[in-house]
Amino acid sequence: MNDEQLLRYSRHLLLTEFGVEGQARLRGARVLLVGAGGLGCPAALYLASAGVGHLTIADPDLVDATNLQRQILYRADTIGSAKAESARAALRDVNPDVAVMALPTRLEGAALEQAVAAVDVVLDCSDNFETRHAVNRACVGHRRPLVSGAAIRFDGQLAVFDPRRPGAPCYACLFPEDTDAEALRCAVMGVLAPLTGVIGAMQAVEAIKLIAGIGEPLAGRLLLLDALHGESRIVRIARDPHCPVCSGNTAAQRGAA
Ligand SMILES: [Zn+2]
Repeated sequence: MNDEQLLRYSRHLLLTEFGVEGQARLRGARVLLVGAGGLGCPAALYLASAGVGHLTIADPDLVDATNLQRQILYRADTIGSAKAESARAALRDVNPDVAVMALPTRLEGAALEQAVAAVDVVLDCSDNFETRHAVNRACVGHRRPLVSGAAIRFDGQLAVFDPRRPGAPCYACLFPEDTDAEALRCAVMGVLAPLTGVIGAMQAVEAIKLIAGIGEPLAGRLLLLDALHGESRIVRIARDPHCPVCSGNTAAQRGAA
């Protein structure tokens, strides 16, 4: 690290658990964010400002006026531009050290597999079950830790699914793919602006912990936040031994045996 970087990251370097080694790990890390909306914007801002070396941001949408209430990477004058590109420009202004790759497309199929395989940690910041399940499948297949966040109305959720850990559940163990879950979209249900910031920032916290190898990740646990009543709780997520997505995961089976 040069003098400028020692200064920029000095408040991380002061953390004994983190230090120079943790910062070096961040610098060498690659993170994929699927979705650059209410969750992806704050998560990406914190990952970039914290010094994660490589960010890949995938989002097929264009910025519109309804996004500005909570999607804090965008400005009135970026309405109409591709979110992924607009996010890259904004993040470069925050920290030119960070290499940001913008994917202004819906990540699916081979492109999704490739993007997941190329990174150390994946953040699911999407807003629909189809994408969530596709990302989960790719993470299980490539054994990449998945930091999953969701926010709707006044309710937030956060969980880490790490297929490298013995006995680890996956997203589909919690929300089976075949359940007839009606997609709850912010466009229909509404969402409190800063709640997406809280959950997105917590996704960044979990990603940084995973990269730096510090603390205890929120793995196999689901944090539920009721912002309207100021209440939160954590529930354990059981691995489904018959889960069609992860039951072939040998690490998970070892833990269950
Ligand atoms: Zn599973």
